[in-house]
Amino acid sequence: MCGTCGCGHDDGVHIRKPGNGNEHEHIHTHNHEHDGLPHSHPHTHTHSHDDGHEHHHHHEDELAGHHHHHDREIRLEQDVLHKNNLLAERNRGYFEGLGVIAINMVSAPGSGKTTLLERTIEALKNEIPFFIIEGDQQTMHDAERIHATGTPVVQVNTGSGCHLDAGMVNKAARELELTENAILIIENVGNLVCPSMFDLGEAYRVVIISVTEGDDKPLKYPDMFRTSDLCIINKTDLLPYVDFDTGRAKDYALRVNHKLKFFELSARSGEGMEAWHEWLKGTR
Ligand code: MG
Repeated sequence: MCGTCGCGHDDGVHIRKPGNGNEHEHIHTHNHEHDGLPHSHPHTHTHSHDDGHEHHHHHEDELAGHHHHHDREIRLEQDVLHKNNLLAERNRGYFEGLGVIAINMVSAPGSGKTTLLERTIEALKNEIPFFIIEGDQQTMHDAERIHATGTPVVQVNTGSGCHLDAGMVNKAARELELTENAILIIENVGNLVCPSMFDLGEAYRVVIISVTEGDDKPLKYPDMFRTSDLCIINKTDLLPYVDFDTGRAKDYALRVNHKLKFFELSARSGEGMEAWHEWLKGTR
């Protein structure tokens, strides 16, 4: 449960490496970090009423119960985020010790993250050792696509979970057996809300929007843009066919994060990719 959307927590998380055909190596199954924490439930309070105004007091108890319930939910969320932040710092130290640059890529579903990754790897794999963690609720599809480029990749399936957390990334990164001075790209679950709250220990957070989305995304989902270092505006080859106003999108994004840097590109046509490649090379 991430507190915001109350996503489920009973499915468990699966971390797998792609193999040949349908034979996937099943590495690890574990439950969400918060499993085992008490679930909030309504409380029954018994009071003696000697003034006869039972109805009135019953109403007050109900209000108090709601308040208590709400406090418990906030505390549970704070516990989950606190634990995540501690693990994220451990990840950060682990990556820094190896000289690995970790990049957390976040976006709504369908922004073209995996295609961007494929094209980036194809262009730079002779210069930069890449390692990839793929986050999706279900399927090995994206990990298979990365695997086809010859790049080490691990798929994390979050089940009903709507984001990656630092614990999942820690386990997945260890399975990858990272080498020194590599770039680790973490493709988060497609979701512009919950992943913004979960630090994974990354050096950079990159938010991707595509021109087939609304150009007011930065105003609608400010936390994701506020916590990102870089914004990629993808699918620019489609600009003639959509109402997306790039200038307006950038203006909105700068309102929530005046330090945000932008790359406008099309992973599909290749336009604008050079600047993104140069930025990636410059991180090392
Ligand atoms: Mg993907």
